[in-house]
Amino acid sequence: MPARLFDLTGKSAIVTGCNTGLGAAMAIALAEAGCGIVGVNRSDPADTRARVEGAGQRFVDVRADLAALDAVDSIVAASVEAFGRIDVLVNNAGIIRRNDALTFSEADWDAVIDVNLKSVFFLSQAVARQFVRQGAGGKIINVASMLSFQGGIRVASYTASKSGVLGLTRLLANEWAAKGINVNAIAPGYMATNNTAALRDDRERNDEILARIPAGRWGAPDDLAGPVVFLASPASDYVHGHTLAVDGGWLAR
Ligand code: NAP
Repeated sequence: MPARLFDLTGKSAIVTGCNTGLGAAMAIALAEAGCGIVGVNRSDPADTRARVEGAGQRFVDVRADLAALDAVDSIVAASVEAFGRIDVLVNNAGIIRRNDALTFSEADWDAVIDVNLKSVFFLSQAVARQFVRQGAGGKIINVASMLSFQGGIRVASYTASKSGVLGLTRLLANEWAAKGINVNAIAPGYMATNNTAALRDDRERNDEILARIPAGRWGAPDDLAGPVVFLASPASDYVHGHTLAVDGGWLAR
């Protein structure tokens, strides 16, 4: 297998929500494959910056709140100014709100849809316009969920947003594949991050979930390293519109 299939030397990637959790692991994995990183966060990504720089890559720190669209154009501009081009976008930033469907509030609906779905579309649109200007295609990797495939419970807006991410991934692939733009998604299973702290703290839910995962353990952020490098690299050039479950076998059950 030629090593260059997975080589990202000289490329640059925008990774949203990379100060912690899955985004941090994916940014570091891309950097270790040779990619410079534009990290988009609300809070300080100090640890991720240190790890990316430790891998010998440049880290550009862009602070933005993806609950609104104001920052979309400036994220693209900052990336182009720093690296001269964009090669990869990882739409990772996401939030979750839990409540019964009978009492779920409009605020909890809008907050989740705005970050998890609306900003994913409009940042993808802005980056794809840049890919078209560059004339050499590009890679967009969305972060989906088990709730892109399943209904879940007490997470109405999250399920709607992540099911939407799966559909949007297919739509964008249909429109942009002929332009050399690969749009795919990673659907993490149950991963040990802040996002799932409440589930892991609930002993009963923790045990139920663990018992159902064929791999017998929660996922670790580093489990996304190989999949994200694959989808960012020439190795996946003919993969379009796919949502890749990285779930310890959860969906196979
Ligand atoms: P996490 O530890 O809570 O991290 C979420 C990230 O999103 C943080 O970097 C956060 O940055 C960023 N973010 C949230 N709201 C933002 C906003 N308005 N503007 C900019 N950035 C924002 O969660 P995670 O588990 O790593 O999740 C990452 C992605 O994977 C999410 O899309 C999540 O839905 C998805 N996912 C997670 C799991 C899991 O089991 N953990 C499973 C399936 C899918 P700030 O700290 O700066 O807000």
